Order: sequence, then structure tokens, then C-alpha cells
Amino acid sequence: MTHPPHAENVLVVIAHPDDESFGLGAIIDAFIGQGSVAKVLCLTRGEASTLGAHPELSAQRERELSTACDALGVDSFELCDFPDGGLAEMERQQLVGRVEQAVAGFEPHLILTFDPLEGVTGHRDHRAATEAAMTVAKARRIPILGWALPEEVASTVNEEFGTGLAGYPADELDLTLEVVRDVQMQAVRAHTSQAVPGSLLWRRLELLGDREYLRNL
Ligand SMILES: [Zn+2]
Repeated sequence: MTHPPHAENVLVVIAHPDDESFGLGAIIDAFIGQGSVAKVLCLTRGEASTLGAHPELSAQRERELSTACDALGVDSFELCDFPDGGLAEMERQQLVGRVEQAVAGFEPHLILTFDPLEGVTGHRDHRAATEAAMTVAKARRIPILGWALPEEVASTVNEEFGTGLAGYPADELDLTLEVVRDVQMQAVRAHTSQAVPGSLLWRRLELLGDREYLRNL
């Protein structure tokens, strides 16, 4: 398969401003390209970025998310005030309730998020966001797809950067999409506080080439 499944409304559930672009940008673009309406629910303002937090960072990252969503053609986004870096420690029901609220307002036919295995990048916030999305998807019987990496891409990046990316063998990846990255790259450039040249993001995108992989969660 090379196209995303048909879904009129797609709710994208992420932990941080930039996850929609760095992680899911090409996939969101593929959905919108075939007629889906996408909404992004971002659970934190990304105020605790490892690249250097400062008082203005939260507002800057909201502007960056807004610009990135425009570049991707995302219909709307909601930004929540849950603590960046602290999602895994939160009362789970609070996150679930927030995803429920977004689902009730948007009535998605599909939810798109990160794969729960180490939250793809090893960030615990990613996993917490995904688990909340999975809980709501199961209760409401909404199909949910998780963005995942092939194990060879994950292990190559891990060897080169000493990171903890998680990947899957080919037979555990349910969908392979053929993607074009131009729109994703525009969205990535909107996140000027985060897109550091030479970072592992670029290497991962290079290794993925024109493919992205999804799992049915
Ligand atoms: Zn993130």
C-alpha cells in the first residue's frame, strides 16, 4: 500500500509542538492531499525543550506550531497546558479526558499519533500522549494509526547519534506510505527554535527517504 486509508476527519494527537512536523509531517500531508481534514491536538507547549528553555519559549513555540500547521494545511490546532516533560507522571484520566474533548468536538474518523513503543524517540511524553489517544480510540471504536520506524532506520540513527529510537521489523509495520517531503520540510522550517542543522532529524528523514510506516494500534 502506498496511500493512507480514506478518512474524512483525522485527529492528530501529539505531545509537543514540532511532533506534527518532525515526526508526522509527511503523513499528515499525505492524508490532506487525498482530501482529509486534519486537526492537531498538542498536549504541551514544549516549554521544557532540551534546546534551552527561556521565558518566551512557550509563546514562540505556539507561533511556530501555528505556522507549521498552516504550511501542512492543517485545519485547526488545540494547544494544551499540560507540563512538557511531565505527561507520564500525570493522572492518566486527565489526558484521556482532554483527548475525549477533542474527539467530541471534531468527530474524527481516524486518529494519528506516534507508536507507543518508546514513543518512537524514547521520550516518555510521546508514549503518554499515545496511550491517552489509544484509550479514547478503543472506547469510541475509532481506528488509530501509530507512526513507527523500521528497525534498520532506528538502529542506524542510534549507532550514529547514541539515541534510543525504537523500530520494528518489516512484518510488524502494517502500512507503508510513499510520501513527498516538500510540505513537511516547510513545516519543519517553521520550528526555528528546534530544527538544528545536523541533528538526527535530518539523518532519520534521509534514511526514510520517500517512505513512512504506520502500525494499527
Ligand atoms: Zn516530541
